[in-house]
Amino acid sequence: MTERYTTNGRGRLYNAITETVGDTPCVRLNHIAPEHVAIYVKVESFNPLSSVKDRLALNMIEAAEREGRLKPGQTVVEATSGNTGIGLAMVCAAKGYPLVITMAESFSIERRRLMRFLGAKVVLTPKEEKGIGMYRKAAALADKYGWFFARQFESRDNADIHESTTGREIVADFANTRLDYWVTGYGTGGTVTGVARVLRKALPDCKIILSEPHNARLVGSGESQERNADGSPASSHPAWEPHVIQGWTPDFIPGVLQEGIDNQCFDQVLPVDGAIGMKWAARLAAEEGILTGVSGGSTLATAMEVAATAPKGSTMLVMLPDTGERYLSTPLFESIPAEMNDEEQALANIT
Ligand code: PMP
Repeated sequence: MTERYTTNGRGRLYNAITETVGDTPCVRLNHIAPEHVAIYVKVESFNPLSSVKDRLALNMIEAAEREGRLKPGQTVVEATSGNTGIGLAMVCAAKGYPLVITMAESFSIERRRLMRFLGAKVVLTPKEEKGIGMYRKAAALADKYGWFFARQFESRDNADIHESTTGREIVADFANTRLDYWVTGYGTGGTVTGVARVLRKALPDCKIILSEPHNARLVGSGESQERNADGSPASSHPAWEPHVIQGWTPDFIPGVLQEGIDNQCFDQVLPVDGAIGMKWAARLAAEEGILTGVSGGSTLATAMEVAATAPKGSTMLVMLPDTGERYLSTPLFESIPAEMNDEEQALANIT
């Protein structure tokens, strides 16, 4: 008899889509990693709306519900580069809250359309006003209409969910395997700040590598962020320039990331060119069958640089925050034609 691949179900039923957030798999790379290092990727596209931000979206809503900060039926408003908005749109649809998203017009079209498909309203802000512009618009709307402003850039519910889920998952999945490096980028900084709380205690020898765009070295520059009395950013950070890694490094250092910087939650910060990140995302797809976006490719590019000089036998884990499908209209897919090339046309002509 031929051996068949069998599965047994998850052993439980789910009462809502929100219960499926988290517990994403760590998968080994078998073809593109250097021979002397074992590289695993944590594939966050296994979340229901295909990104790491489903975790924080769920926690910002559920923590606010528990603490009475969010009233039944109250409108939720948030500023986001897309993935948080998509995650919030899922959570708000499942729980019955109206949602308004403010987003700079520079982020991919599929992000807007996905949020609207999930029932959210999307208010676009001019790209010249950068990340701060969409943030101020969300704050102004919350103020004017008494809406619940989720505040991913400052909320303690952000890093907390990565401490109670992402970080714990990593420690549990590597219980029988050494973990020498964990590599991540940052947007709000929730992932690095929250996971580091767990890794610093449970795996103190694991080096935490933080990656940022080579033309927006907010952390690497060492220059501090100007803030208002409430902790919100007062101005654009001087080291910021527009970059191609959607979801990473807004034009200010968020409060959530500041906690991580102040607590030295990483060992090294490395710059990466987003164009090289896109090349690694393409190799990951074509040579490993793993689909990720530009931030995942850029995190992998940084990991490959660290791997080159890492001691033999080292093990690494690389965060892949979202799916490549979120980038079909962007430079990531620019070189991928929709029409047949000559080789495909020749095959089409055979019969
Ligand atoms: N990659 C992508 C595509 C994202 O949308 C985000 C979140 N904005 C991140 C990485 C960074 O995650 P975090 O906000 O937890 O730092």
